[in-house]
Amino acid sequence: MQNLLANLNPEQLAAVTLPAQSALILAGAGSGKTRVLTTRIAWLIQTGQVSPAGILAVTFTNKAAKEMAARLSAMLPINTGGMWIGTFHGLSNRLLRTHWRDAGLPQTFQILDSQDQLSAIKRLLKAANVDDEKYPARNLAYFINSAKEQGLRAQDVEAFDDYNRKMAELYALYDEQCQREGVVDFAELLLRTYELLSRNQPLREHYQSRFRHVLVDEFQDTNDLQYKWLKLLAGPRGAVFAVGDDDQSIYAFRGANVGNMAAFEQEFCKGNLIKLEHNYRSHGHILDAANTLIAHNSKRLGKNLHTDAGHGEPVRIYEASSDLQEAQWIIEEAKSLVAEGAARSDIAILYRSNAQSRVLEHALFSAGIPYRVYGGLRFFERAEIKHAIAYLQLMDNPHNDSAFLRVVNFPTRGIGARSLEQLQDAARQYGISLYAAVPYITGKAGTSLGSFVKLIEGMRFETQQLPLQEMVEVVIDKSGLIAHYRNEKEGADRIENLEQLVSAASLFVNEEGFGNDAPALLGPRARAQAGVVIAEGVEIVDADAPLPTVMSPLSAFLSHASLESGDNQAEAGEDAMQLMTVHSAKGLEFSMVFITGLEEGLFPHENSAKEDGGLEEERRLMYVAITRAMRRLYLSFSQTRMLHGQTRYNMKSRFLDELPEHALKWLAPKVQHHWFGNQRSQHASAWDDAPETGVNTIAQSLVNKGSGWRIGENVSHAKFGEGVIVNIEGSGNNARAHINFGRQGMKLLDLSVAKLEKLHTA
Ligand code: ATP
Ligand code: MG
Repeated sequence: MQNLLANLNPEQLAAVTLPAQSALILAGAGSGKTRVLTTRIAWLIQTGQVSPAGILAVTFTNKAAKEMAARLSAMLPINTGGMWIGTFHGLSNRLLRTHWRDAGLPQTFQILDSQDQLSAIKRLLKAANVDDEKYPARNLAYFINSAKEQGLRAQDVEAFDDYNRKMAELYALYDEQCQREGVVDFAELLLRTYELLSRNQPLREHYQSRFRHVLVDEFQDTNDLQYKWLKLLAGPRGAVFAVGDDDQSIYAFRGANVGNMAAFEQEFCKGNLIKLEHNYRSHGHILDAANTLIAHNSKRLGKNLHTDAGHGEPVRIYEASSDLQEAQWIIEEAKSLVAEGAARSDIAILYRSNAQSRVLEHALFSAGIPYRVYGGLRFFERAEIKHAIAYLQLMDNPHNDSAFLRVVNFPTRGIGARSLEQLQDAARQYGISLYAAVPYITGKAGTSLGSFVKLIEGMRFETQQLPLQEMVEVVIDKSGLIAHYRNEKEGADRIENLEQLVSAASLFVNEEGFGNDAPALLGPRARAQAGVVIAEGVEIVDADAPLPTVMSPLSAFLSHASLESGDNQAEAGEDAMQLMTVHSAKGLEFSMVFITGLEEGLFPHENSAKEDGGLEEERRLMYVAITRAMRRLYLSFSQTRMLHGQTRYNMKSRFLDELPEHALKWLAPKVQHHWFGNQRSQHASAWDDAPETGVNTIAQSLVNKGSGWRIGENVSHAKFGEGVIVNIEGSGNNARAHINFGRQGMKLLDLSVAKLEKLHTA
């Protein structure tokens, strides 16, 4: 038995070994909150205070949950499978799968991700003849989700004016539609679980007496419903161990309520409050930057971090002329880090908005550097994967109308808008799903719809005895998807992704312990053997029962597809650079971090100016970003950036001005841009010689790359008149030039489309 407590400081030790009471650990970034939480679980089990089944641990992402389970397995010689470790959504799903009947759901209920939810809402608005200018789908989605996050059903929403009354009405219709189709959205997973346990006393008491210890990481980002959910599961006797950092609360836009920390302290922890202020992650300069920045916020519970690690290296700041050049600089810098012996996975590139990843990805891809994107367009969000998933969903639950509409005519099989209208009318008239309404349609439309139904039934029949991965193989083939993409110009990638889905299914089956011969669902006796017990008329599956007891492999896989973010950019196990938004980086740490796009309007995001407290939330986000770095931190910004199809001319972020000068090192870009000279002069004194990043050579290689133009060339443009090319970036069809048109100013033009002529000067 190893000594779990050996490497803890006195405050951490006090936290890990608290008696079985509720407690709040309020602590800054990198102070060991997650480590304390994990160690406490191990300690409770090792000292026999609780069995693994008595633990409920909630983390913020699936990745974090996996890491926690892995760390526990390393600390204890036990199978972590019996513990409930997961996200709010994942754990709710587990409960609802077990108690679907009591929750009023079909056994094969399916999960809508945000994108599916939006299209379900658009469909609803259309069917109900609602003016979507007045009631845009996005607004309704927001309305519904925030109501659910406060625990409110349509009838509980206060309808204080016509607008709200209408929204509440649509909310009710939406819930009916979901129920009819057997689907639940993300917020519904939680609300349904909450309602199930509030109403069902035996079930509630079963779980309350079981989960003696409820532990929550990233507590600052819980919303009202999650708070109530925790309270209910813990019950009056459960000990809730909450760890959090108010300075890292970054989900207000999704209803996170940092006030939960104060509420929790009052309601639960009664004096069991421990602060951790020793940071073990970052070197001094990085920590100074974080502390000085966050001190600009007024609403704080107040704490400061310190480290014994020494100053370390200064925070490096780089000014790029454009987003392309910023990306090139990052790549060169990263290459030299790797050449010096860093693993690629030690390097993270963070950005504020997903849209920023495209340029970075492109540059990495061109440079042949393996990378992985977290939280961007997820594997399971790609169109071809969604199509394949829709077929699988229909086989599992034919009443999922969203899935039906997605693939009824994809690949095309002659089912037009007219036929679908007819079908939708029939479905509405009888209050049934589209699938169930097919027999009511006659004529040619009826025939084609009928053969679609036959296709689905046929696939279901053919695959019912097959293991999941073979089932997926049959489906991507028989559905016609592969054939369809074979005829498409850029279909090869999509076919590859579809094949990846087969691998994903096979990996899933192995990881979740669905044996290849696992029956779809176990019969009553097998269920009893696997630990299903009946208590006071309520069927209660013991939580140690494996997933196959409560879910078919297909249902489980479909939930996984909706809940997990897949990442397929780099091969599994391959050493890859890590790209993600700052939001997705929460709780993680990396030796070397680049924070890119530090420009006004981007970070802080322009929307933040519109909301109360918006700027402070952005600053907390910047604080999260900075505190991810252990040894080396780079901050970069760019004078121009192509975003959403437009070139933006940017000011550097105010956050850069809020950092302590002594901890910074401004890197001089070697690409000279005379026209922006004034911006830089204020930092002239702090400038050091740029290290050998190789930027110079990149700049040269960017010139002329097949664009047919060169720097210094005189040109004429139909609209702007005469000018001089000052810089060229990109190559071939992607080349863009900064051109100084004198009085008309500096323009960034796309060389492949700009109407330019060469001027031959004497
Ligand atoms: P965040 O706020 O970012 O979620 P955190 O407070 O959860 O951070 P951890 O991730 O638990 O912090 O710890 C940060 C790093 O410090 C980890 O690498 C962890 O292993 C290390 N660490 C924590 N406590 C100690 C300690 N007492 N001695 C040595 N290293 C420690
Ligand atoms: Mg943490």
